Amino acid sequence: MKANPDVVIIGGGLAGLTSAIHLSKSGLKVTLIEKNEYPKHKVCGEYISNEVLPYLEWLGLDISILKPSHISKMEFSTAKGKIISGELPLGGFGISRYELDNYLYHKAIENDCQIIQETVTDIQFVDEEFLVFTSDNLELNSKIVLGAFGKRSNIDLKLNRDFIQKNSPWLAIKAHYTGDFPNDLVGLHNFKGGYCGVSKVEKDKINICYLADYETFKQYRNIEEYQSKIVCNNPHLKAIFDNCKLLFEKPLTISQISFEKKDAVENHILMIGDTAGLIHPLCGNGMAMAIHSAKIVSELIIDFFDNRISSRKELEEKYTQEWNTNFKNRLATGRFLSKILQKENLAAFLMQLLAIFPFLLPKIIKKTHGKPIILKN
Ligand SMILES: Cc1cc2nc3c(=O)[nH]c(=O)nc-3n(C[C@H](O)[C@H](O)[C@H](O)COP(=O)(O)OP(=O)(O)OC[C@H]3O[C@@H](n4cnc5c(N)ncnc54)[C@H](O)[C@@H]3O)c2cc1C
Repeated sequence: MKANPDVVIIGGGLAGLTSAIHLSKSGLKVTLIEKNEYPKHKVCGEYISNEVLPYLEWLGLDISILKPSHISKMEFSTAKGKIISGELPLGGFGISRYELDNYLYHKAIENDCQIIQETVTDIQFVDEEFLVFTSDNLELNSKIVLGAFGKRSNIDLKLNRDFIQKNSPWLAIKAHYTGDFPNDLVGLHNFKGGYCGVSKVEKDKINICYLADYETFKQYRNIEEYQSKIVCNNPHLKAIFDNCKLLFEKPLTISQISFEKKDAVENHILMIGDTAGLIHPLCGNGMAMAIHSAKIVSELIIDFFDNRISSRKELEEKYTQEWNTNFKNRLATGRFLSKILQKENLAAFLMQLLAIFPFLLPKIIKKTHGKPIILKN
């Protein structure tokens, strides 16, 4: 075990790994604790906005070696199959989390980060220092802790966070398929009580990932029945499923997905990625936000260790302020759009409006996406 790290990061998804790479590149001692092994498939639409590319390059990451798909168009349909398509203002790329997280993991190790595969069970803050405890009775001390433990974790329960007290009606299902689908397109298709994202990732695979409301889902015996009776009522989704072959043994599922507001700082832990707030996946911007929040927090932590930020209070205030400036409105737009799409009449009205004024579509997309991430130095 190395001497006490400057920063302990809890969770090694996109947010945790990105901040580990950034902080270690700047010479800080970083320990990241992740409960799962790499590589691992994750439930995710796997479409990433190009806004992250300049920053990833700065971190020394070359995503092109993973051979992602390049996506420049989108197609959007209502539950009844009314379709509208358009260009994506900034475009994006498709890469599986299996490949992407694993690539970042190896980069973090290359940068000399310590990565421990264990579950964090508790975090205490005593006398201006954190104590982090793991399932294997490890105890770590550090000055800074980053919470990068995703949408829902045992740590949320430990911290008694507000959102974890409420049941959430959403579950999500994802798998990779083989079949015909354009390389440059992301499809967003609605169905009763949910929406489905379809796009290509590396190696010509198609990722199909959908969000579904639990009340409807539980009325069916299994995923196959739900898909054929509900999801495939949208004719575009039926055509896609009819022409694709499942590559996984069975689809992955997660439940209790919450879009409730969260705080960016709790018990002095600086939260990043989904731990600070999950944008509705309809917006396809959660991964870019996870990476961007890692950049914001890393720059502030470096300022803190270099005494350009003079106190923990100032660090926490600055981070909360920057988080709100960059992400609060995007999350609100995501919540608003998902509400409209759940109401049949409103969704039909929105589609009519977009059919008459197609220039509005890129404007809506821009509202949920950021600009290319600019570096401070
Ligand atoms: C259905 C769906 C579709 C989506 N589609 C898209 C999309 O197409 N494009 C997009 O940009 N975004 C999409 N998103 C959002 C995106 O997946 C997330 O925003 C992104 O994964 C956030 O990364 P993260 O690092 O915050 O969390 P994660 O990637 O979830 O990482 C959290 C990590 O913490 C670990 N962990 C948790 N608790 C502990 C513990 N106690 N100890 C140790 N480790 C722990 C977990 O194992 C996990 O690896 C989608 C989300 C959903 C639900």
